[in-house]
Amino acid sequence: MTVQITPQPGIMQIALYEGGASHVEGVTEVVKLSSNENPLGPSPRAVAAYEAAGTSLARYPSSDHAALREAIAATFGLDAGRIICGVGSDEIISFLTQAYAGPGDEVIHTEHGFAMYRISALAAGATPVEVPEAGRVTDVDAILAACTDRTRLVFVANPNNPTGTMIGADAFARLADGLPPRALLVLDGAYAEYVPGYDGGAALVEARENVVMTRTFSKIYGLGALRVGWGYGPRAVIDVLNRVRGPFNLSTSAQDAAAAAVRDTAYTDLCRAENAGWRDWLAAALDKVGVPSDPSHANFILARFRDRDEAEACDAFLKARGLIVRKVAGYKLPAALRITVGDETACRRVAEAVAAFRAGQEA
Ligand SMILES: *Cc1c(COP(=O)(O)O)cnc(C)c1O
Repeated sequence: MTVQITPQPGIMQIALYEGGASHVEGVTEVVKLSSNENPLGPSPRAVAAYEAAGTSLARYPSSDHAALREAIAATFGLDAGRIICGVGSDEIISFLTQAYAGPGDEVIHTEHGFAMYRISALAAGATPVEVPEAGRVTDVDAILAACTDRTRLVFVANPNNPTGTMIGADAFARLADGLPPRALLVLDGAYAEYVPGYDGGAALVEARENVVMTRTFSKIYGLGALRVGWGYGPRAVIDVLNRVRGPFNLSTSAQDAAAAAVRDTAYTDLCRAENAGWRDWLAAALDKVGVPSDPSHANFILARFRDRDEAEACDAFLKARGLIVRKVAGYKLPAALRITVGDETACRRVAEAVAAFRAGQEA
């Protein structure tokens, strides 16, 4: 017998995800600015909760995440019964595609949208559909025009990664109202906490039956290593997602640290303010040496160069100085580099290095 073991259709179309690099050969003082991590790290209360969980490692974790959902609900004024927690928001995205899209179904994402939307759609056997943006900004009309009776999910990050741009609540209400009856709108709020006063789309979730919001502890909460994310949606959708969720998907340390982090709103406020100050400073410093960026609402800026060659040359120049940023050609932005807003030292080093690079280009 000859074995014929082949994966499900779509799986081999998935390009392996490349995380942000973290070291450079021969350079010791490396600053990683390639994965949008919080340079201040997590709240000390989250670290204490993580350590305390070390005394109960023999016990299975909570399966219903009640304490974490309660902490999230109390902080944001939401209904804990409509929250689901996952192994990063990546897992919520994966639950959504698994539950709502399959062979023959279409999953919409935007031109420069987050890679996991396409990956999860393909993993579910569905067809990813890419919709153009309008000058690196989500285009609601283009999304509506791309909808068909096969559309099951529409993923939009707001603010978007890697562009840093965002659109208003009115635009999303119009999008939700214009979708075909079987399509679910997913608002990815991975960077929502960086936007003063923004609810990430929670109000729209409450006002509609076809909107889900995803959030993460990997960005402003500085807990990327723990892998915790959450979703907020209509009760019926959360009920569906809970059926595909593994009962013990989140460890006790992850649940406890995340609950402590989300309750420490003073620390979150501090991180938001620090980020905004250095982000705007860095954007202005780069702009001054001829490297523009769109106004960013997140914890990174998308620095635009004249062309792909210049972006790649600058990336190499920064790397040689121990500054690791993210190339985004895979996001259809070959002439740009995504630079995470680090702490003051990191931002000053990036600004000086880019200025030196540009001076070399002009010479
Ligand atoms: C970083 C990021 C996430 C978060 O993923 P996790 O799995 O929660 O770490 C989700 N969406 C976007 C757009 C992101 O940039």
